[in-house]
Amino acid sequence: MRIDILTTFPQIIEAVCSESILGKARDKGILDIRAVNLRDYATDKHKSTDDEPYGGGPGMVMKCEPVFRAVEALTATSVPGKPRIILMTPQGKLLNQKLAEELANENHLIVICGRYEGVDERIREHLVTDEISIGDYILSGGELPALVLVESVARLVPGVLGDETSAKTESFSSGLLEYAQYTRPADFRGYKVPEVLLSGNHAEIARWRRRNSLERTLRRRPDLLETAPLTDEDREILAQLRSDAARGNKE
Ligand code: SAH
Repeated sequence: MRIDILTTFPQIIEAVCSESILGKARDKGILDIRAVNLRDYATDKHKSTDDEPYGGGPGMVMKCEPVFRAVEALTATSVPGKPRIILMTPQGKLLNQKLAEELANENHLIVICGRYEGVDERIREHLVTDEISIGDYILSGGELPALVLVESVARLVPGVLGDETSAKTESFSSGLLEYAQYTRPADFRGYKVPEVLLSGNHAEIARWRRRNSLERTLRRRPDLLETAPLTDEDREILAQLRSDAARGNKE
């Protein structure tokens, strides 16, 4: 998978993409992530990538030319299929696991990082295929949002995570929050690991984990239960948890 990140701060992107999981996936040749400096595509002698807004007002706006020229140059390179051209913007579609899964199936993503007041509206109208937000708050640039997006997508690409199963059991992938995890020691300052996890009984452990997953989803994110795929046994467990809670409230 090829991911090009268009930015005026390529070092921010490099700092993250050369470390840990992303760095390893890059070294293994599974992910080809590149930080593309928009200044390299500027057309004037000052290599400017932003200018004052028409109509006045505070701040600067990212110019069309460098962004269009960079995207056109990258689209012409030999990656099969059409790229998804993604603008990071607080006005975009909210990133979630489903969207990350969808993007993990693509061959080529081009991600545009805004700065200042944002980008010229014509980039949004005539160049991008997707607009993505990482949440209802404003950051100073699209670099951190782009990295959040890239990391959420990259770990779903086969071969990127060491243990393939972990992406499947994690929170949201199954529609529920993940169960509680413990590691050695079994007794830390008197805080004990649940006995069943030490039992070696895999069927019991699986049951405990499913129940724990259902219980924490019910407590923390009951909204997820409306769409999560549930078995009859899950529904029974939930009914029991709800009635236990109702009894607890009365006592
Ligand atoms: N004036 C714009 C915000 C500009 S913030 C507005 O009100 O909509 C500067 C840049 O940071 C944006 O162009 C975008 O690329 C990035 N950015 C800031 N917050 C973001 C968020 N929540 N999600 C995605 N990108 C964001």
